[in-house]
Amino acid sequence: MPELATPAKTMDIIKKHNFFLQKKYGQNFLVDGNILEKIVTAAKINENDYVLEIGPGIGTMTACLAKYAKKVICIEIDKKLIPILEETLSEYDNIIIKNEDILKVDINRLIKDDCNGCQIKVVANLPYYITTPIIMSLFEQSIPIQSITVMVQKEVAERIKTGPGTKDYGALSLAVKYYADPEIIMTVPPTCFIPKPAVSSAVIQLKKHPKPPVSVADENLLFAIIRAAFNQRRKTLANALSNAENISFKRNDVIIALQKMSINEAVRGEALTLLQFAELTNLLSKDNAN
Ligand code: SAM
Repeated sequence: MPELATPAKTMDIIKKHNFFLQKKYGQNFLVDGNILEKIVTAAKINENDYVLEIGPGIGTMTACLAKYAKKVICIEIDKKLIPILEETLSEYDNIIIKNEDILKVDINRLIKDDCNGCQIKVVANLPYYITTPIIMSLFEQSIPIQSITVMVQKEVAERIKTGPGTKDYGALSLAVKYYADPEIIMTVPPTCFIPKPAVSSAVIQLKKHPKPPVSVADENLLFAIIRAAFNQRRKTLANALSNAENISFKRNDVIIALQKMSINEAVRGEALTLLQFAELTNLLSKDNAN
């Protein structure tokens, strides 16, 4: 059983260091050893693995990861947690602690320097206020990632997993499916954290595709079209794309492309699959090239 993952031990450490939990950093520390073991088991960490942990907190998950991994690199934004981590993790010689903002750090550089350029596994209990930017930046920076196993808000996990025609379906679901295969591992109640978050949580695993499941000539255009479609999700797709800020398609061109795909011109973006968005992107980028 991981030693730090109990309410009593966590409170001891917080009090001993006179540490004040920061809501602005999404600090909800995991205090349930069984959940922690299940996360590390789901991530299938072994002695050859380089692991990136985002937001180690007081080191509860870090210590558990370090027992199985070759090396754990953890990135923590709150400098007041660094002396605590140095103490709680002092018995491990395979952990690197960095006081950085995960959204600003150059992860590719870090992998070259600290992981011999090897593929990494990302494991974390994410700060919920920046879940989407973290996941998107991990994918968009073309980092050599094998898998991402993270605790997120339950609602976000459902949004990632869902398909067309549901109210949760959106740009995040499509972007994640472009890069990875998502699986919800388990749901986790608020009682497993200190302090208890207002929402339920879930552990989601994203196994990166060796190559995207659809092929597009212009990846940036695909994501611009997806974002535009869901920014104005109550509008028809043709209206949403012809009114979008950063792309400029004529409404009629979108309608012609939809007709070529045998899709009704009154369709909304929320009805299209990733494959259909890819096909539309290729038709519209061809139009642009003409
Ligand atoms: N891993 C610990 C656990 O499971 O108990 C803590 C998880 S807590 C939900 C999120 C952690 O992310 C906090 O330690 C917080 O300070 C850190 N954090 C928040 N924003 C961050 C950022 N931009 N970069 C790196 N760490 C961040």
